[in-house]
Amino acid sequence: MSDTHVVTNQVPPLEDFNPAAAPVLTEALIREGGEWGLDEVAQLGGLAGGRTAQRWGELADRHRPVLHTHDRTGHRIDEVEYDPAYHELMNVAVGHGLHAAPWADDRPGSHVVRAAKNSVWTPEPGHLCPISMTYAVVPALRHNPELAAIYEPLLTSRVYDPELAVPTTKPGITAGMSMTEKQGGSDVRAGTTEATPNGDGTWSLRGHKWFTSAPMCDVFLVLAQASGGERSDGGKSGGLSCFFLPRILPDGTRNRMFLQRLKDKLGNHANASSEVEYDGATGWLVGQEGRGVRTIIEMVNLTRLDCTLGSATSMRTGVMRAAHHAQHRKAFGAYLIDQPLMRNVLADLAVEAEAATMLAMRMAGATDRAVRGDERETLLRRIGLAAAKYWVCKRATPHAAEAMECLGGNGYVEDSGMPRLYREAPLMGIWEGSGNVSALDTLRAMATRPECVDVLFDELAVTDGHDPRLDAHVRSLRPQLEDLATIQYRARQVAEDIALALQGSLLVRHGHPAVAEAFLASRLGGQWGGAFGTLPTGLDLAPVIERALVKA
Ligand SMILES: Cc1cc2nc3c(=O)[nH]c(=O)nc-3n(C[C@H](O)[C@H](O)[C@H](O)COP(=O)(O)OP(=O)(O)OC[C@H]3O[C@@H](n4cnc5c(N)ncnc54)[C@H](O)[C@@H]3O)c2cc1C
Repeated sequence: MSDTHVVTNQVPPLEDFNPAAAPVLTEALIREGGEWGLDEVAQLGGLAGGRTAQRWGELADRHRPVLHTHDRTGHRIDEVEYDPAYHELMNVAVGHGLHAAPWADDRPGSHVVRAAKNSVWTPEPGHLCPISMTYAVVPALRHNPELAAIYEPLLTSRVYDPELAVPTTKPGITAGMSMTEKQGGSDVRAGTTEATPNGDGTWSLRGHKWFTSAPMCDVFLVLAQASGGERSDGGKSGGLSCFFLPRILPDGTRNRMFLQRLKDKLGNHANASSEVEYDGATGWLVGQEGRGVRTIIEMVNLTRLDCTLGSATSMRTGVMRAAHHAQHRKAFGAYLIDQPLMRNVLADLAVEAEAATMLAMRMAGATDRAVRGDERETLLRRIGLAAAKYWVCKRATPHAAEAMECLGGNGYVEDSGMPRLYREAPLMGIWEGSGNVSALDTLRAMATRPECVDVLFDELAVTDGHDPRLDAHVRSLRPQLEDLATIQYRARQVAEDIALALQGSLLVRHGHPAVAEAFLASRLGGQWGGAFGTLPTGLDLAPVIERALVKA
């Protein structure tokens, strides 16, 4: 009914924007060695902000995947049916190399370009779970060179084929991972799934996994306790080990992995997350027996990078949508974007998003250099990524809530896209190492690779003398790391302070001066209230907000 009133003061839909036009992202892409990918990233960003991809995102989220355990005649099939829009999203993601493609690309910066592409492919985050796992599986799989020789070309292929078939008959495949069991997710060593050798080089797995996302992937890395067999070198077998399981075996039969049900989740709706029973499933050992955690951790490190990138992306998306709304919505006679308190909120959200993006992309750059053998960057990534995963992911949820609130009641309504952003945000903090686990991993980095502390301070020393607030923050870090008696209790504070130091240092060196000053004055200057929108007075907020505005 439109006769009762005239519709005014509603905000135009956010269409035909380009997430790749965010200055903080392109600056980081260039700085971290991915300048050659600028055009590709911009092209994908244009697609992401277009109406078609936005619609795919809505449909894939709204029409949740459905599990079919049996066919109509009662045979087990264990297949998940997705909305066609999910496959469209996957097709673009694989086609643009957001998955394992950088492993087949020797160009320095290929992992940075991939990180930027992941950061602009924003229509829907759930499908990025299998994309991320397919990226992350490659270094772990290389622990079995024979398997890697067969499957790596298929994992890096840019063809998406959703059909279940013998992996080697497909033009391209995707990969997942199964670690978490009912009795333990962070503590994977508590896993009880057993693997028994078959005597022909394969193993039989029996047990369960409590979470296995994207179960329609073609291949999985699975942790299980190796038992019952004699090793060829005469040694005792046993211990948590990593296994490679295809869904369809080389002879064309279905592997004995049975999907029990799909999780009814808070968000991440497009991504099916299943409970699986392994009842004599066939697997191949990857890496050494008893070294399963060490093998699969290489996969986890990369998915942690994607969680950090994903949280930064969520923040940029949130503040962009909030700023768009504030630009077009009036209250009390003026546009929201012109009202001082809203400017404080928007600028504060923008500062957080920029700091998160710079740190996440720095870690992508460190990853790129680490995989090419750079030991210093390997060490920096070891400590920096643990701290970044903790802090950036921890900030994403309050950020999404505040960005949603900028849209008022409209923000709480699905059409705005903000509920989806909000529901997704805590997930980045939970999986691949929940907050405490990531914070404790920061300590573990220091304990197992003490050299990474020197590398960290070396990195921070570059900005020594540039700003007294940053200097004071960095000076206060050392004693925090040295008091070992209480360090576990303080692990969150330690991880936060390391992340803030890295963010401050990046901003001082490379950030827009107004963004850097707002960050230093609030996060390191002690003049910050804790809620977004409590920046101190006297800051130049215009360029900070300008950088967050929607761009085509
Ligand atoms: C949507 C979704 C999809 C998932 N997909 C997969 C998948 O594909 N494959 C897979 O293997 N797993 C998957 N997971 C599981 C996820 O990785 C685990 O839930 C996560 O690692 C935490 O494990 P948990 O649930 O057993 O919690 P717990 O390990 O029981 O942890 C509970 C809490 O205790 C904290 N904690 C743990 N240890 C300590 C400690 N020493 N000191 C202080 N605090 C501690 C944790 O930080 C957490 O806050 C998925 C989870 C979700 C939500």
